[in-house]
Amino acid sequence: MGLRLLIIVGAIWFALRVYRRYRLGIKRERGTHAEKMVQCAVCGVYLPEPEAKRERPGVFRCPAHQAH
Ligand SMILES: [Zn+2]
Repeated sequence: MGLRLLIIVGAIWFALRVYRRYRLGIKRERGTHAEKMVQCAVCGVYLPEPEAKRERPGVFRCPAHQAH
């Protein structure tokens, strides 16, 4: 009886570990894809938003086409 309880508790603990790792993996994957990509208004190249210069809301330029 005590052994059965131990097996059940162990199985729950193991399932929680796997579930937590699975959720963490999803979160990590989303994190890498979360970076917003924007398009240069001049050449149309896609680049991460932090690297682009915002000319006006919704209009971005790549480093090669940034206005001086
Ligand atoms: Zn460009």
